Amino acid sequence: MDHVKSLKCLICGAEYRADEVEYVCPHHGDEGILDVQYDYDLVCSRMSPESLAQDHNYTIWRYKPLLPIEPESPLPPLTVGWTPLYRADRLAAGLGLKHVWVKDDGRNPSASFKDRASSIAVVKAQEKGAGLAGGKVVITTSSTGNAGAALSAICASVGQPNVVFVPQTAPPAKVAQLLVYGSTVMLVRGTYDEAFALCAQAAKEFGWYNRNTGYNPYMSEGKKTAALEICEQLGWDAPDWIVVSVGDGCIIGGIYKGLFDLYSMGWIKKMPKILGVQAAGSAAMYDAWVAGVDAMDMKPIEAQTVADSISADLPADRIKALRAVRATNGAYVKVTDEEIIAAIPTLARGCGVFAEPAGAAAYAGLVQGIKEGRIDPDERVVILSTGNGLKDIASARKSVSEPYVVDKDLADVKRKLKIAD
Ligand SMILES: *Cc1c(COP(=O)(O)O)cnc(C)c1O
Ligand SMILES: [Zn+2]
Repeated sequence: MDHVKSLKCLICGAEYRADEVEYVCPHHGDEGILDVQYDYDLVCSRMSPESLAQDHNYTIWRYKPLLPIEPESPLPPLTVGWTPLYRADRLAAGLGLKHVWVKDDGRNPSASFKDRASSIAVVKAQEKGAGLAGGKVVITTSSTGNAGAALSAICASVGQPNVVFVPQTAPPAKVAQLLVYGSTVMLVRGTYDEAFALCAQAAKEFGWYNRNTGYNPYMSEGKKTAALEICEQLGWDAPDWIVVSVGDGCIIGGIYKGLFDLYSMGWIKKMPKILGVQAAGSAAMYDAWVAGVDAMDMKPIEAQTVADSISADLPADRIKALRAVRATNGAYVKVTDEEIIAAIPTLARGCGVFAEPAGAAAYAGLVQGIKEGRIDPDERVVILSTGNGLKDIASARKSVSEPYVVDKDLADVKRKLKIAD
């Protein structure tokens, strides 16, 4: 990895070679989140907007020179990334905006954004395993559901053993994914934060490779690929806003990092502002941003929201999540569960993208951002839809009315449609 200059601690600024530390800066317990620093000149000598225009690999791996993996590492075969960026004019009109796009990350193999990070985790674990006697390490993660399902899917594609810890309350579709892909599944009687702690303990005890968000420095690097794609899909003319829902803060931190990399290389001329959207019942980042609190001084809350994917008591990636909004002059907003549920059909009917609650939350957050006067009608806005609606059918059904139930009889259809005979 000659293109990775160092891993830099976001608390004390200490820099380490990638072979010196595995996860966090050793000076702060488990909290010393590291940021991957690249040799941008070297990256630019290997990849350019022009070389990408000729590249037919439409997956996250098209950006390999800017990813923290060894150049010769084998890559898992599932097609992750390069998800569609739809121009959504009807949605825009309804919002009083001129330019809105929706990026549908529910189109990834396990149907959420998390495949981007899990792909990197599997490559890193295999790099680690290659240096060991048995040749294989077990990968583990905790998850509200999607990170686990993503790890499960990518692992299944290469026969990689893995153990996933999820709260017992995770939506059944997500748990089904874990079981079908063949993960060892631990349903934890507790919250996501408690599953996270248990997973971390197990990883240390058994020497498993730890994919946990906000601990493993490479997960935000996988997630940044969505920002690279957005800018490339818009012809390197960066949008004014990117709207993304926030739980642990890894996605928003990754989006910022991708934009920062592109800006540092001169591939985009401005940094978009980032709008972080939280559920009102899980708004630790929003509260910290409003109060001007430092990430290290944040206290856990008791998170409660229908959008399970963005439920976090103390967001694990809070340092990167605060930086993303502060450094881009963006904002955090919060939205109620009712607004999140209502956003599911609005988004689906406005542009054809069916999102799970955490994905639709981004749309609800944009509505809130507009209400607060943060978005200019001329600004170009990208909404990130992070997960597929089929992940959580129970919530989707709450958002819509009941269908007609009819007799096997055209007369009954007419009655229901109020068409006179
Ligand atoms: C994980 C997830 C999020 C939030 O990402 P964080 O990195 O935890 O902030 C949003 N939407 C979906 C569908 C997710 O799975
Ligand atoms: Zn440090």
